[in-house]
Amino acid sequence: MTKIPYGRQNITDDDIHAVVDVLKSDYLTQGPHVPEFEQSFAKYIGAKYAVAVSNGTAALHLCTLALGVKKGDKVITTPITFAASANCVRYADGDVAFADIDPVTYLIDINKVRELLESSPQGTYKGIIPVDFAGRAVDLEAYRKLADEFNLWIIEDACHAPGGYFIDSKGKQQNCGNGLFAELAIFSFHPVKHIACGEGGMITTNDKALYDKLRNLRSHGIQQNPELYQYNHGIWYYEMQELGYNYRLTDFQSALGMSQLKRAYEGINRRTEIATLYENEFAGKPYIIQQTGVVHGHAYHLYIVEFNNRDGLIRHLRDNNIFAQVHYIPVHLMPYYRQFGWKDGDMPISENYYAHCLSLPIYPSLTKEEQLFVIKSIEAFYE
Ligand SMILES: *Cc1c(COP(=O)(O)O)cnc(C)c1O
Repeated sequence: MTKIPYGRQNITDDDIHAVVDVLKSDYLTQGPHVPEFEQSFAKYIGAKYAVAVSNGTAALHLCTLALGVKKGDKVITTPITFAASANCVRYADGDVAFADIDPVTYLIDINKVRELLESSPQGTYKGIIPVDFAGRAVDLEAYRKLADEFNLWIIEDACHAPGGYFIDSKGKQQNCGNGLFAELAIFSFHPVKHIACGEGGMITTNDKALYDKLRNLRSHGIQQNPELYQYNHGIWYYEMQELGYNYRLTDFQSALGMSQLKRAYEGINRRTEIATLYENEFAGKPYIIQQTGVVHGHAYHLYIVEFNNRDGLIRHLRDNNIFAQVHYIPVHLMPYYRQFGWKDGDMPISENYYAHCLSLPIYPSLTKEEQLFVIKSIEAFYE
């Protein structure tokens, strides 16, 4: 029996040829495939600009820098996310405030965010980082209204949701990361995500000034536009104007991303099929507390079920070579964040979710046979 992970990449011969072609070309990094991937990705998402970077965490770091987060700035995010969504605030010396999740959607609860904002003097908080957790889109229209009321910026962590969307108050589809409501959105191209580059990330925005700043910061703070040089010594000249990083994506990774992007819709359709089969198989089962279900606009990076006796089930599944996983250990309970005073009981809904949640295998190359084996193994455990 082969190992069944909760998620995995899908690499085709076309992907391999795309990478090999670049390896045989003149450019390994910063060649023509980087802007091609950026433009194609921006188009796919429906945003004006995209900046490719070395990974999703680098994308988050550049966002907090571009928005000017500094020592003591308070930023709100969810405890049910990958640690990087919070860590990016710490990279810029800001402070992280957590707001609890909604028990049904598992997304950060806008009412909890509002409570937090209203309980402090105006200006206490600088920004919000909502996460399209598991692939379910946050209602960013509502967050924009709240952010405007309290003068906040928004970074949408859309790592789980390229191709996901919500329907706005006018009935219009709003894609995750389309830049209409959030200043900036970020994506990851880690192999378990929808589009794999090995490592890779993308920032999307509709703001030209932020776009220019991000491009400079991605490459050492070197000004990309010669018209904006303060000095010019000659044709060899380049100018570093601020402290930046090397967070570039290579040309062969961009070629892989480009090739993967062509199958993005197909991937979401297959993920939705898998989710629908889980939904139907588990509906009404007594050992289930709640499941993700079939949700409009969901990108299904993860399919999550809350089980009774989750800990016993996860061990049983491992014995059957099924590597279901827990997403996530609440970030506020990590020892690193406990040092700032966060403790057990601070986020009761997140902590209760954490006690029961399990991410079942979902990825385009998961076969129907494999999925039925997963379902049967779960049923066998509860019999
Ligand atoms: C994967 C992920 C990241 C980080 O992306 P990397 O490319 O692994 O650095 C950030 N936030 C969320 C929600 C993620 O799932």
